Amino acid sequence: MTGLKVCIVGSGNWGSAIAKIVGGNVMKFDKFDKRVNMWVFEEMINGQKLTEIINTTHENVKYLKGIKLPESVFAVPDLVDAAKDADILIFVLPHQFVKRCCDSLAGKLKSGAVGISLIKGFERSPEGGIELISKNISSRLNIQCSVLMGANIASEVAEEKFCETTIGSAEMEMGKTLKELFETSYFRVVVVDDVYTVEACGALKNIVACAAGFSDGLGYGDNTKAAVIRIGLMEMVKFTEVFFTGSKLSTFLESCGVADLITTCYGGRNRRVSEAFVKSGKTIEELEKEMLNGQQLQGPHTADEINVMLKNKKMEDKFPLFTAVYRICHREIPPQALIDCIREHPEHM
Ligand code: NAD
Ligand code: 13P
Repeated sequence: MTGLKVCIVGSGNWGSAIAKIVGGNVMKFDKFDKRVNMWVFEEMINGQKLTEIINTTHENVKYLKGIKLPESVFAVPDLVDAAKDADILIFVLPHQFVKRCCDSLAGKLKSGAVGISLIKGFERSPEGGIELISKNISSRLNIQCSVLMGANIASEVAEEKFCETTIGSAEMEMGKTLKELFETSYFRVVVVDDVYTVEACGALKNIVACAAGFSDGLGYGDNTKAAVIRIGLMEMVKFTEVFFTGSKLSTFLESCGVADLITTCYGGRNRRVSEAFVKSGKTIEELEKEMLNGQQLQGPHTADEINVMLKNKKMEDKFPLFTAVYRICHREIPPQALIDCIREHPEHM
């Protein structure tokens, strides 16, 4: 019997950190093939192709500098070549590129292939709403799609600093295989069946992280940030209850929920850029270019995506923090308005 072939679709900061884990685990278990393809969106670094650099130095020098990837991981510049024979596809790219990626892969995958999405964000639906990325991948590619979300800042995971994560899988046998693929002594996996809540948590916490960054940029302290986190969590719970029926409150107590919210509101890129947004007066796009060396922010896009839906449903006032983040990013209101929004929040009435 040949082992299950794994392909990582994406090779950014998190994609590369996860390649280190998965590349190591396929070597440990007979059930997996010993080669992992990693699709790399090709770019030139000092006159050399990034794929060539990764395949010779075993390091993604642009997105995860200083971390060696296992020799089982092969960078492949053509998406279809990388993915066509895979049994398990790990989707880990900034959510704004998912659509194009699925367009290229549609109809080209092995029959019976399954996916797992590590992507934090939503896709806009044609009806003016939002769709979960895993559902979007699932319907466009006709594959089952689980999710993995957690308090997992990529650089810390790559340095093997202990953390937990959550896999959401509707099918427990699949959940077990995925746990084997991802778990290590420093990256502990809990599998739950509440897939939509796991994914919604991963997307929504990035909006709260922007609010935490605005609060930091305004010079408020940890108590204020704790209030931002608490109110943000209440909006996340409410949003999930309203739009994803059947969601379980207990899922918010997993790594994908409260733990990811905390780590992102202290150590994440969305927080850092949002703080600079307040202090510098520059736009989010300018700061993303200046501060992130090609890495991509998800929070402001996610705030846009859900705002379209909340506007259409006339529900902006039910989610004042999410709405304030959207308006602050677009400079419709000043950052200070975030604090007024928390002060007057329905949770206090
Ligand atoms: P990243 O922020 O490092 O983004 C850079 C990646 O985007 C590079 O691989 C680049 O090649 C790619 N890219 C740029 N233009 C592209 C295009 N036109 N088409 C396709 N790809 C293009 O990415 P990341 O950190 O790996 O994040 C991927 C997902 O994982 C996001 O949803 C993020 O929220 C989530 N995530 C990130 C972290 C983290 O700490 N970085 C942790 C957990 C989850
Ligand atoms: P940022 O994208 O804000 O860095 O968050 C990373 C993350 O999702 C940690 O779990």
